[in-house]
Amino acid sequence: MLKPLQRLVIDLLCGEDEGCRGDLEDLAGLVGDLDSLASSLPKPFLNGPPGRGPLASRVSNLHELRKEAVRLLEGDEALADYLVRRKLYADLRLHAKQEKPSLECPVCGHRPRIIRLARVEEGLFTGYEPKARCTCGMEWPFDEWLCPSCLAQGRDSFDVYVVRPGLLEVRKCKRCGYKIAVVEGKIDQADVALVNLLLDRFEGD
Ligand SMILES: [Zn+2]
Ligand SMILES: [Zn+2]
Repeated sequence: MLKPLQRLVIDLLCGEDEGCRGDLEDLAGLVGDLDSLASSLPKPFLNGPPGRGPLASRVSNLHELRKEAVRLLEGDEALADYLVRRKLYADLRLHAKQEKPSLECPVCGHRPRIIRLARVEEGLFTGYEPKARCTCGMEWPFDEWLCPSCLAQGRDSFDVYVVRPGLLEVRKCKRCGYKIAVVEGKIDQADVALVNLLLDRFEGD
């Protein structure tokens, strides 16, 4: 059963193309398989004192993890990178400082492509708290109107494309063209994968 966000992205990317729809509908299964593979990677070892950089920069056997991921995925470098990031997230996220806004993911060091508006209940009211959601799974507080690439700030810095109100928005930085998706509510890794695909292909006008 597809969730509304997944159905929307698949409609946008595939239209009536049944082959394309089938491939993307299988994505949920694929991300699950990749997570099982990631769990079989060697344990990452943290080395050195906590510094300013992401945890990935302190993992002493990162090269070994990467080599094993490439082997498991028969040479697919991009997917191997994803696998390593998932492993770092699974094993190290509790070591990451989650409270402080930062431009890069505190676990894997990548810039966010998705902002999630998390619902927070405050007495009678429901508010939204923007969080950066990394492809590795990590979330941390973020300014939803800040470009993680060129640091342009404020609503006026973005072209906003409302794809579906309350579900998905794509914002494009006017200065550098960096694209960021804004979603509401809970999302999982299949959602993240689909939204990343959409961002890769999104042109705006
Ligand atoms: Zn990350
Ligand atoms: Zn920018």
